[in-house]
Amino acid sequence: METRDRHEFTVQGIAASQGIAYGQVFLYLQSELQVPDYQVETERRIDEVARFDRALVATRQQIARIKAEVERNLGPEEAAIFDAHLLVLEDEALIGETVREFEESGRNIEGCFQRVSARYIRAFEEIDDEYLRERAVDLRDVAQRVLQNLLGQAENSLKRLAGERIVVAVDISPSASASLDRSSALALVTDSGSKTSHAVIVARSMKIPAVVGLRDLTRRVSDGDWAIIDGYDGLVIVNPSEATLFRYGKIQERKKSFEALLREVSHLPAVTLDGVAVTLQANIEKADETRLVAEHGAEGVGLYRTEFLYLNAGRLPTEEEQYRDYRAVVEAVAPRPVIIRTLDLGGDKPMTGQTDLFPREPNPFMGFRAIRWCLEHAAVFKAQLRAILRASAHGRVRMMYPMISGLDELERANALLAECREELRAAGIPHDGELEVGTMIEIPSAALIADLLARQCRFFSVGTNDLIQYTLAIDRGNDRIAHLYEPTHPAVVRSLRQIVTEARRAGIPAGVCGEMAGDPVYAPLLLGLGFNSLSMSPAWIPAVKYLIRAMRMSDARALAEEALALGSASAIHARCEAFYRARVRLE
Ligand code: PEP
Ligand code: MG
Repeated sequence: METRDRHEFTVQGIAASQGIAYGQVFLYLQSELQVPDYQVETERRIDEVARFDRALVATRQQIARIKAEVERNLGPEEAAIFDAHLLVLEDEALIGETVREFEESGRNIEGCFQRVSARYIRAFEEIDDEYLRERAVDLRDVAQRVLQNLLGQAENSLKRLAGERIVVAVDISPSASASLDRSSALALVTDSGSKTSHAVIVARSMKIPAVVGLRDLTRRVSDGDWAIIDGYDGLVIVNPSEATLFRYGKIQERKKSFEALLREVSHLPAVTLDGVAVTLQANIEKADETRLVAEHGAEGVGLYRTEFLYLNAGRLPTEEEQYRDYRAVVEAVAPRPVIIRTLDLGGDKPMTGQTDLFPREPNPFMGFRAIRWCLEHAAVFKAQLRAILRASAHGRVRMMYPMISGLDELERANALLAECREELRAAGIPHDGELEVGTMIEIPSAALIADLLARQCRFFSVGTNDLIQYTLAIDRGNDRIAHLYEPTHPAVVRSLRQIVTEARRAGIPAGVCGEMAGDPVYAPLLLGLGFNSLSMSPAWIPAVKYLIRAMRMSDARALAEEALALGSASAIHARCEAFYRARVRLE
């Protein structure tokens, strides 16, 4: 017999969507379907296959309906996941194998389908490839629907909650989250999940708080329990006492007024109290994100990750398609500037389903990726370079190469660029003849030869996400060692100082476009070290701007000097945290 805590208790999870909610729990538990297993009489076997067909058709109709609804509420991007679901229903192997198993065994069709789909789900889950593991999630979701239709059971729905509720679940499948009652869901909370799960994306789009990764919370709460969901710090407080409620009421008020304050500063200049102007720009991945640039007060795009055009298309886009995409970005952001980064596929951004172009590798993070891949696929790379050059005729464009590890790569890339320039010139196609080309510094070898690279390019942009990963030999996507991924490790801080010093010596600007730039706790350290521009997810800009307007650059420089003299990541982090807290008081 389970015991449930009735007194106040707090569970720490992962903050996935900001905000604070207080309300009663709706425990959304999908019961395991009870699938019968029996022998079908020979004369009824034709009916059995027809029953399977009908269930597939009904499932297809349901998914199409959900897709249309999601498209209406959240837009085509979010709805695209249901195309993957529809594809599952057309999977010849899955359907064919089910029918074959039925014909051979004579067992009822739902049993056969459950066994076959379970085999496929297991196989996908075991593959060491994030894309294919996601297919397992799609398959489980669709298989559940098919089985419900075969068994004539109503779908588990989050459509009508009994009043305003906090939805607590083990996990929420894409179709369940799409059916969520938008008027009465106060927050989403799940035992499993990650910051990028579909339910979280839905929560963010609904602007309700979400906390995920709470392990066994569903076993510790009951329907109707009261809880506070803190989507800022990733906390769930069940059965809060009066004192906690009072404290949270105050925090919520302060956070709300801080958010209002952030909205106010977002359109003011990013200038420190002692008059130093800082450039704050946005990182974007898709052309339709350009509207977020001005909305959040960014001075243009500091990183356009072009690989998403390839990943979304699932094939190599043509020069023309790329040109149209880049031009749309450049024109939408004009007169502000855009830095377009050339293709960075591989590592954490694999292009699946194209094994001839991207063969499987034992160690993709150190493998055939980004600029290495582009230099060996010169025709593909040149198509992109020409598209970027052509887009440069429509606004202020700069371009940079990812994952440069040495001079040779930079020179080879520039030689291909020179060929493209010449081709466009000969054909009379307009482009910016002076297009500035920069280098990302995200591999320790590039940081160590920053002096050499600085002489061959017009600017540096430091990709701290990768620089930290490769400097510390810590996989940036591995939860197990996430605590060792330390942006303030002395080796990282020293490396950053070296990069900015060499840039200064060569007279070129140096900025940072990794996640560190968008963290208000670390931004002062980066500015103090000497970086003069920071590029980040648009949503982080107001908070970083607020801090910049509340600090003196001379203090940030002192912080950087102090950090350079310290020997541990935790000591440097503590100094950064104290610097931040002294200037931004929330509680
Ligand atoms: C980085 O590595 O910091 C970076 C900005 O590039 P990405 O996150 O796309 O690898
Ligand atoms: Mg990178």
